[in-house]
Amino acid sequence: MIIVMRHDATSAQVAAVVAQVQAHGMRTHLSDGDERTVIGVIGTNPFALRDLFIEAPGVAEVVPITKPFKLSNREFRSRDTRIKVNSHEVGGDRIWIVAGPCSVDNEELYLESCRLVQAAGAHALRGGVFKPRTSPYSFQGLRAGGVEILREARRQTGLPLVCEVLAPADIDTLAELADVLQIGARNMQNFALLSEVGRLRKPVLLKRGMSATIEEWLLSAEYILSQGNYQVILCERGIRTFETYTRNTLDLNAIPLIKELSHLPIIVDPSHGTGRRSLVTAMALAGIAAGAHGLMVEVHAQPEVALSDGAQSLTPQAFRQLVEQVDAVAAALQRPVGVS
Ligand code: PEP
Ligand code: MN
Repeated sequence: MIIVMRHDATSAQVAAVVAQVQAHGMRTHLSDGDERTVIGVIGTNPFALRDLFIEAPGVAEVVPITKPFKLSNREFRSRDTRIKVNSHEVGGDRIWIVAGPCSVDNEELYLESCRLVQAAGAHALRGGVFKPRTSPYSFQGLRAGGVEILREARRQTGLPLVCEVLAPADIDTLAELADVLQIGARNMQNFALLSEVGRLRKPVLLKRGMSATIEEWLLSAEYILSQGNYQVILCERGIRTFETYTRNTLDLNAIPLIKELSHLPIIVDPSHGTGRRSLVTAMALAGIAAGAHGLMVEVHAQPEVALSDGAQSLTPQAFRQLVEQVDAVAAALQRPVGVS
């Protein structure tokens, strides 16, 4: 439920309503708009108490939120959430591009890949050290042994790092180093992990589970937001369908739909969304045309020797061309172009 205050409500009236809500054992979330303050109320069946609030001084209206996701709901906050990652505001008009190898495997090639994606225009680096692999016999990442390589990549490029956490125990290893913590598709409904990153005050990139509905995905975001961490970036990375020529089916519907339903930023991962290098650029452009706030793209200096996801990794040259084409699409959409 949201309580919309009158445009001339005083801060004392807002505080009195907040206190009254909390006295009933419910939680509040304040959203100060340009026009008026909106108080979000979270609790079991808050609308049953509607009559208590409708007459309170300064209240304009009391509106139920019928969808199960609340804090991520556009009705809760009409303006887009913008999340600062170094100098970039993710969720604004400028496209945010995260690029780099799937995993940190070989130090020299990882650092080379990072320098090359930076030169091509990436705003942030990716690279997993804890890898969620379908088979226990596949390369699992360098784990804590990869951390110094990530640190060196950031030192050489100055770019922020987006890094996946697989388990609550990884958070300590990564939280001081990574600028954005990634929750992978396979962990989208790992509620213990979601609550744990919800307790941090740093951006979280939440990938869509491969079989998750949009509503389940937003409810997962809700686990993070409801712990007080409002810095959630959603990432569409493809869902499972009957199609076998591609690894996943990139659900482009999700982009404009999420923008309708939620105020959170959404980016697209065309690498996992297709599983095939030859399709990545086309789907990256489609994602931007559909309104995504950014991209996450796997790029490797030598994809043929990558220890994970080489088949979907672009060469640095191909990535450079992708960035140029993204710029052209951005210009057509009257969004800012260029990497600076
Ligand atoms: C990844 O980003 O390398 C990854 C494992 O992605 P996903 O969780 O989307 O499969
Ligand atoms: Mn990968």
